[in-house]
Amino acid sequence: MARKPRLILNTEEADEIGTLLGDKRLVSIVGHKIWPHVVVCGCGDGHEEDDIYRHHHGLCKARDEEPMIHKNLTDGGALVLQWNWSLNFGLPGDELMIKKLGASMRFKETNVLVLRVHAPCRAARETPMGPLKQFEALQVGKSRMLAAYPKTVVCPFFDVRYADGKLRTYFAELD
Ligand SMILES: [Zn+2]
Repeated sequence: MARKPRLILNTEEADEIGTLLGDKRLVSIVGHKIWPHVVVCGCGDGHEEDDIYRHHHGLCKARDEEPMIHKNLTDGGALVLQWNWSLNFGLPGDELMIKKLGASMRFKETNVLVLRVHAPCRAARETPMGPLKQFEALQVGKSRMLAAYPKTVVCPFFDVRYADGKLRTYFAELD
């Protein structure tokens, strides 16, 4: 059965991605350390997940690393770590995810945490958040994870599916 088409990046989202790239808040992954054994908090979007993790595996394999990518997937990905995010429905989904990520890092004996958001993301659109706000949410997520688990190494990624179908993964330059 053919699946329904994925979302298409709209003009406003493309403009905001352009702003983040122009400001070098999003940069291509060149020379960044790619950690092969990681815990991930990302969006489980059924149209995107396979390609995103194929890309992540490819980055590891290109560096002769055997990947171990342990995923905690939820709609919106790292957006769930925001304070009072509407898609946590008034429940402490942020606090639960922080604890779950801490447990995952313990289970897998790694302190490397990949926080991912992506565009276009249905969960982000619904709340509503464009890429600029999604970037800010990555910063919040990083700060909260470091407050809870100070030894965490946070790798923030922003995946963009362009209107021509190409998928690009950028590194988010957070504080
Ligand atoms: Zn999504």
